[in-house]
Amino acid sequence: MSLPTGVERRTVDDRERLVTRGEPVYGEPTVGEWRVWDAGRSKLGAMLSIGVETGLDGGETVLYLGAASGTTVSHVADFCGPTYAVEFAPRPARDLVGVASSRENLFPLLKDARRPETYAHVVERDLGVIVQDVATRGQADVALRNRRFLRDDGRLLLAVKARSEDVTAAPADVFDRVREQLAEGYEILETRRLDRYHADHLAVVARPR
Ligand code: SAM
Repeated sequence: MSLPTGVERRTVDDRERLVTRGEPVYGEPTVGEWRVWDAGRSKLGAMLSIGVETGLDGGETVLYLGAASGTTVSHVADFCGPTYAVEFAPRPARDLVGVASSRENLFPLLKDARRPETYAHVVERDLGVIVQDVATRGQADVALRNRRFLRDDGRLLLAVKARSEDVTAAPADVFDRVREQLAEGYEILETRRLDRYHADHLAVVARPR
């Protein structure tokens, strides 16, 4: 699996880690101008670490749903093009604005990802990538509602948290239901459990159908 341009593997403290080049954000270790991308704190970092075929080349325009305080989206903006970061909780969004201040291609949006019509006038169409990590009930629905932004051969990179859908159900059953729902608007290319880094999470790579 090739990594996107701008993401490298480096040995840091005797461990092989992913790194991107940019301003540190969350106290992560750095090597020169490179900073460690902690797969334990990032579902997209975990996907790349375990070799999921994300289709990311680097340089894509990205819509990131569930940006929180900017841990992962800061790495994304380090190797991608314009990066629209949607987060609906004001507290993390404040931190996100700070993270964006040193990244001219990162655009924070204090918006609800279930209501894409509220940011459709800002976000470009024909995007290369949607990254989604909202960890709330209705994760497939959020992906379907935002599909309108993706170009035909674009990629959805989705992290599904089973417990956010149903705390009592077996994660495998939750993932089956999410896959079924997603198929209404996406062709699923790959799914992988992320348990090595994130318990009861499923990574999904899909493209619009
Ligand atoms: N992706 C982040 C990272 O790796 O740095 C972590 C995201 S955290 C697991 C999930 C985030 O999604 C929370 O900050 C939460 O407020 C946000 N979120 C949940 N539902 C949302 C919605 N409907 N619209 C926007 N943000 C949402």
